Amino acid sequence: MERIYIGMGSNLAAPAEQLRNAVDALAQLPQTELVGVSAFYQSDSLLPGQPRYTNAVAVLDSSLAPLELLDALQAIENDQGRERNERWGPRTLDLDILLFGDRLIDEPRLKVPHYHMQARACPFIGLERLQPA
Ligand code: ATP
Ligand code: CA
Ligand code: CA
Repeated sequence: MERIYIGMGSNLAAPAEQLRNAVDALAQLPQTELVGVSAFYQSDSLLPGQPRYTNAVAVLDSSLAPLELLDALQAIENDQGRERNERWGPRTLDLDILLFGDRLIDEPRLKVPHYHMQARACPFIGLERLQPA
């Protein structure tokens, strides 16, 4: 088992509900336990003219391989109506792997730690108040 931090974001179609549904889906992944979820918080879009984002971080313990987890996260995004058109366009759900154990991954489909981690409005802001799953 490795400890994994997932950055979640939504700025369309009832964002908080999107994040709650995503947490439920993460809790049902095989070989995976949901450890906890941060508080939800708001952030400005990186691009102007988009609705604000609702964000949170979910913490998992999993024995899935990194690319297996990425496939599973993209399936959850698709299930929740994610459309991939404009880069950084508004989205119903974005699930990014921020940290995967202490691994450094540099593959075409997967870079960990996620490069936005430091740039964003403190994604760990809510972890001090981590809620048991
Ligand atoms: P950003 O990556 O800047 O946050 P984004 O989340 O809008 O932008 P997406 O369209 O969701 O980008 O994802 C584009 C690709 O990024 C995915 O298909 C995936 O292969 C790749 N990717 C690379 N590293 C990661 C990671 N750590 N977590 C999730 N996806 C990643
Ligand atoms: Ca992202
Ligand atoms: Ca993403």
